[in-house]
Amino acid sequence: MDCLFCSIIKGEIPSAKVFENEYVYAFRDINPNAKVHVLIVPKTHIDSVDRVDESNVSAVAEVLKAIPEIAKICGLSNGYRVITNVGEDGGQSVKHLHFHLLGGEKLPVRLA
Ligand code: AMP
Ligand code: ZN
Repeated sequence: MDCLFCSIIKGEIPSAKVFENEYVYAFRDINPNAKVHVLIVPKTHIDSVDRVDESNVSAVAEVLKAIPEIAKICGLSNGYRVITNVGEDGGQSVKHLHFHLLGGEKLPVRLA
């Protein structure tokens, strides 16, 4: 299967790594929407939140567990936003589950 983020995790495509452990990889978004914009992904391929189930939820939990540490590495002591887009209406462009970590400034008005 051809997946951009699987290729980044394998090191086949370069990325600006911020954090890595056994389950999680985090790297800078190539087209940042805030002063800090990091993508956090499970190393196992999951299409999106819409594909989370009993068999893979532990990988998602590892991603969520890593967020405070990644936020600290990025210096986001004053807060941040975590977003995951799902499918066509959600505006998801890469079909490998990822959480956008945004911060480093006061973020603009949001939908939720
Ligand atoms: P989404 O639109 O929620 O699927 O988010 C995909 C994100 O991946 C976008 O914010 C892109 O800027 C980012 N992106 C695409 N290709 C790369 C890449 N090679 N390295 C880092 N970020 C990327
Ligand atoms: Zn993938």
